[in-house]
Amino acid sequence: MAVPFVQDWDVVQTLGEGAYGEVRLLVNRQTEEAVAVKVIDTSQAKECADNVKKEVCIHKMLSHSNIVRFFGHRKEGPTVYLFLEYCTGGELFDRIEPDVGMAEKEAHRFFQQLIAAVEYLHSIGITHRDIKPENILLDEKDNLKLSDFGLATMFRHKGRERLLNRLCGTLPYVAPELLGQTEFKAQPADVWACGIVLTAMLAGELPWDQPTDSCQEYSDWLQKKTYLPPWKKIQPAPLSLLSKLLLASPEARITVSDIKKDLWFTQTCRPGGKQQPDSLRSANKFLRSDSGLISRANSDDRMQFSSSQPDPGSMWEAMLLIGQADGQVSFSQPAKPEHMLLGSQLVGTPGASQTPWQRLVRRMTRFFTTVDADASLAALINICKNQALAFKQTCTNQVTVSTLDKRNNKLIFKVHLLEMNHRVLLDFRLSKGDGLEFKRLFLKIKQKLGDIISTQKIPVPVT
Ligand code: ATP
Repeated sequence: MAVPFVQDWDVVQTLGEGAYGEVRLLVNRQTEEAVAVKVIDTSQAKECADNVKKEVCIHKMLSHSNIVRFFGHRKEGPTVYLFLEYCTGGELFDRIEPDVGMAEKEAHRFFQQLIAAVEYLHSIGITHRDIKPENILLDEKDNLKLSDFGLATMFRHKGRERLLNRLCGTLPYVAPELLGQTEFKAQPADVWACGIVLTAMLAGELPWDQPTDSCQEYSDWLQKKTYLPPWKKIQPAPLSLLSKLLLASPEARITVSDIKKDLWFTQTCRPGGKQQPDSLRSANKFLRSDSGLISRANSDDRMQFSSSQPDPGSMWEAMLLIGQADGQVSFSQPAKPEHMLLGSQLVGTPGASQTPWQRLVRRMTRFFTTVDADASLAALINICKNQALAFKQTCTNQVTVSTLDKRNNKLIFKVHLLEMNHRVLLDFRLSKGDGLEFKRLFLKIKQKLGDIISTQKIPVPVT
């Protein structure tokens, strides 16, 4: 799908994929402002056009610091473009170490911001209906941004609340009443999903496949067997909050206003909290030196990755080569989105408070190898064969891997091979499936490729 861009805006890279299209990063050649554009092909499914209309209608109403900003949209035939605030910090699931989670302090902060976003949504009568780490992005300051309003709906209008009846969302995150009742309240279901996100952040695993009696892990939870994982990994204070968030009865479940009074939620800093896992700390370090690799380039270099540039690999490479000596890439949110949105419907303009300098999108699921591109590709393919992972080489520098996760759900991800400064970067990106399962498989592949993974520090260029 080509993006028919207004002059001066270049498609720099694909940021992610969704069910009906891609999300791409656009950078203004002159001002270096960046936006994410979600490209949706509405011809793919009958209900898609109506769903997108609803997504636009809801997202453009929203204005909160923990919700991805919506700049506007544009329609070209069956394709709809949604222009969104670019979140350089990547996805929340990428910060969750499988089976470990993250530092409790971090989880606490993210959870407070998530609840702030949900409280705001509920206050204006909107329910998200698909809260999960894959739909939670982070900005350059690691502020949480709730995204993807594709399933959101209005549950209250002019003070009158309605019950919902549509079963939607993602099974491990859905509340039990969605599976057991024909009608249910909107707000407790979002609160439940927040509880599952908190569990994932604190324990690095999802507690169950679905909250039904037939699911052993869920029955164990109902019987308060908190000596079992994931609960045994969680400290008493957050566990006490979880026991209120994950109450089977939606009527008894804690409300957002009571969450805000919870002991753990309100505490400012918990002494002796879980440390950030070593692997994550080193990954953070890796990322800092990774971005340190970025060398200074002039604006002419930037001109080369126009939307007509066909090779995504070279765009990536160019993308990684622009920037500043301090390791930051010169992107900012658009000051004048109307330039980009000519002929489209624009809502609001970004405030002046936006950070002028932003980093490249952070991703933990990548590493450099010590061998050349051919050998790296051969090693990757070899692992796929040994692990019985279906794979397809989609172009010279990209492999698509598909498999089933432990819940038998489809898991599809792409591996880009990028040659940079005579080294090869393997960058893994989830296309479809559960973020934690993807991370788990990534770590397994990384471990198997241990022999060819570079542990050498990446030199920071001196200017
Ligand atoms: P799904 O099929 O999961 O519902 P979708 O088509 O609705 O997906 P999104 O979930 O909105 O698409 O986005 C897909 C991915 O694109 C995200 O997981 C994220 O990696 C990336 N992405 C989306 N929006 C942004 C943004 N504003 N800034 C940076 N990356 C983004």
